[in-house]
Amino acid sequence: MRLVLVGPPGSGKGTQADLLVKRLGLAYIGTGDILRAAIKARTLVGREAEPLLKVGRLAPDAVVNDLVAELFRRPDRPEKFVLDGYPRTYAQAVAFDALLTLEYVKLDAVVSLVVDDEEVVRRIGSRRCCENPTCRTSFNLLARPPKVEGVCDRCGSKLATRDDDREETVRRRLVEFHANTDQLLAHYRGRGLLREVSALDPVETIYSNVLRAVTA
Ligand code: AMP
Repeated sequence: MRLVLVGPPGSGKGTQADLLVKRLGLAYIGTGDILRAAIKARTLVGREAEPLLKVGRLAPDAVVNDLVAELFRRPDRPEKFVLDGYPRTYAQAVAFDALLTLEYVKLDAVVSLVVDDEEVVRRIGSRRCCENPTCRTSFNLLARPPKVEGVCDRCGSKLATRDDDREETVRRRLVEFHANTDQLLAHYRGRGLLREVSALDPVETIYSNVLRAVTA
């Protein structure tokens, strides 16, 4: 199975990608992870991307396209995969289409996890993260509250809201998400690849719906 997952922050995209990897043995391709690894390794790409990632801006299309192209041109390229975080713009989708055509790879589906902006703000606003830098366990006051209010279950440190989880930041990220994604989704809808799945259900229901949508 060859899938692209699309969804705003807080849509549970990462959780669904994890399940697809564990249960179906798909390779996980996350451009966020690839960029963070490049930053850590202090490569040229990493040094270019670092200041942009720090402020929550997208890395340039050409940079991300090259990283993905390099991955798909390797002899040991992934055959069955779930892409998380790429393509993220229409320009990336066009470049990715061209790459897949050249490499004789066919996508099965682009799954869009659908959740409205107010629900995203509510979900992310209820996230709390352990302040202890070696723990960083994440809680959710609605879905996974800590046993004692404001205290980490794991290490007993204080819980806090992460800077990029603050409402004004979340709303800014959502504006950027829609600006980049609406055209991307229209592109895949036009190609008959788009499958829309509600992200409001419990995790396992969403997972079944994703599988059903992809194999339909
Ligand atoms: P993620 O882990 O997917 O949330 O990505 C973390 C950060 O990496 C994003 O906020 C962007 O700055 C950058 N990034 C990840 N994927 C892409 C992409 N496809 N295009 C541009 N920037 C990306």
